[in-house]
Amino acid sequence: MSDPRRRIPRTDALLDDPALSPATALLGRHTVKTVVLAIQDRARAGQIPPEDVLPAVLGELPKRPMSISPVLNATGVIIHTNLGRAPLSPAAVQALIDAAGYTDVEFDLSTGARARRGAGALAAIRDAVPDAGDVHVVNNNAAALMLCACALAQDKEVVLSKGELVEIGDGFRVPELLASSGARLREVGTTNRTTVCDFAEALGEKTGFVLKVHPSNFRISGFTSTPALRELTELGVPVVADIGSGLFGPHPGLSDEPDAASALQAGAALVTASGDKLIGGPQAGLILGEADLVHQLRRHPVARAMRVDKLVFAALEATLRGPESPVKAALRTPHASLRERAERIASSLQESGVDATVVDTESVVGGGGAPGVPLWSAAVSVPADYLPRLRSAGVVGRLEHDRSILDLRAIPETDDRRLMGLVMRCR
Ligand SMILES: *Cc1c(COP(=O)(O)O)cnc(C)c1O
Repeated sequence: MSDPRRRIPRTDALLDDPALSPATALLGRHTVKTVVLAIQDRARAGQIPPEDVLPAVLGELPKRPMSISPVLNATGVIIHTNLGRAPLSPAAVQALIDAAGYTDVEFDLSTGARARRGAGALAAIRDAVPDAGDVHVVNNNAAALMLCACALAQDKEVVLSKGELVEIGDGFRVPELLASSGARLREVGTTNRTTVCDFAEALGEKTGFVLKVHPSNFRISGFTSTPALRELTELGVPVVADIGSGLFGPHPGLSDEPDAASALQAGAALVTASGDKLIGGPQAGLILGEADLVHQLRRHPVARAMRVDKLVFAALEATLRGPESPVKAALRTPHASLRERAERIASSLQESGVDATVVDTESVVGGGGAPGVPLWSAAVSVPADYLPRLRSAGVVGRLEHDRSILDLRAIPETDDRRLMGLVMRCR
C-alpha cells in the first residue's frame, strides 16, 4: 500500500498550476507559496486528503495582497475613526489611481522646472475659502497644530482655556502634543467658564499665540461661558483656531460647527482642520490664514517631516473640485429615503426567511464633529446573533435592545444589494 502522503502535489507543481495563475498575478508568488506550504502541511498531517490540496489552497488565498479590507459602515456614525473616517468619492478614488505612478506633483511640464508641490490642491482650498491669504497641507490636524506650535511658539506660551484641553482620541491630548514642541502651555479660566479677561491677563511678551480649540467630541452644558473668537482676536495677539471637522463655510444643518471662513472673518490668524472629517477627503491637516504666517510654517524645518504625498494631494483636490463627497451625501439624505430603503431591504430579507424589521434610529456625524446633533435615520434590525457573523463578512453594525441594528445613514444606496447579499449569507 502506498502512503497517501506521496500523492500530495509538489510545491513547484502547485505553484505552476494554471488554476493558481490569477492568484499569483494578484498576490505574488511568495504569498501564494506561503499558503501552499501551509496546506501541504495539513495534508501531511492527514487533516485533508491529497486530492483536496489544490481546492484548499484556492479557498485559503487572501483576496488581496494587503490586510485592510473594505467594510460596510452600518454603525450610523458617518465619520468613524476606527473605520477610516471619510470614504472617498469616486472622483477621489480615480485621482488616487491616476496619481499612483510618476506624476507632475512637483514639476512644471511646460518649463521642465521644479514647481510648487501640490499647487492644484492648494489652489482648490484657496478657492473654497477666499478669506484665506494662503494655505498649507500637512499629514493631519494634529500635525497642523504641532507645526503652529513649533514655528510660532517655540520657547513661548500657547494660551488656551482650561475648558478646551481636549483629548482627540486613543489617549492623545492636544495640550501634551503642543508641549512636546517646546512651547509652554498657559491654561486660563476654569473647565466650565473662561472669560476674555482671563485671556487678557495672561498675555504678554512671552505669548506665542492664543489657541481656540473646538470641543468637537464632547459638550459641556449648564453654567458655562467661553469668549467668542472675535473677542480673542481683538486682544492683539495671533489667534490659531482649531476648528476640527473642517467645514469651509457655514452648514445649515450643523449650526454649532465652526467653519474656516467665519473663523478667518472673525480675525483668526490661522485656522487648522482635518481633511478626512466633514470635508470628506483623505487624511490631511489643512492650515489656512495670513500669508506671512503660512509662509513661516511652510519654511519651518519640521514642515518637511509632515509633508503629504502625491496621493493625498490628488485625492484632496478631486474631493474639492469633483462631485459631492459621500460624507456630504450621507449628511443630507432625508430620513424618508433611508426609511424607504430600509423597508425594501427588510421585506426582501423576510422573503428569504430572515427575521428582519425596520426601526427608526439616531445616527451621528461622529469623528469629533457636531456632538449632540442627532440625525434621524432608519435601520434594518436582524437578530443579535447575526452581529459577529456580519462583522466577519465586513458589515459593522451595532447591538441595541438585543437586536443587530444596521443603520443605513452611512451606506450609499448603491451598496444596498451588497448589504442584502451579505446578510443572507449570515442566515
Ligand atoms: C479631530 C480633531 C483633531 C485631530 O485631528 P486629526 O486630523 O485626527 O489629527 C484635533 N482637534 C479637533 C478639534 C478635532 O476635532
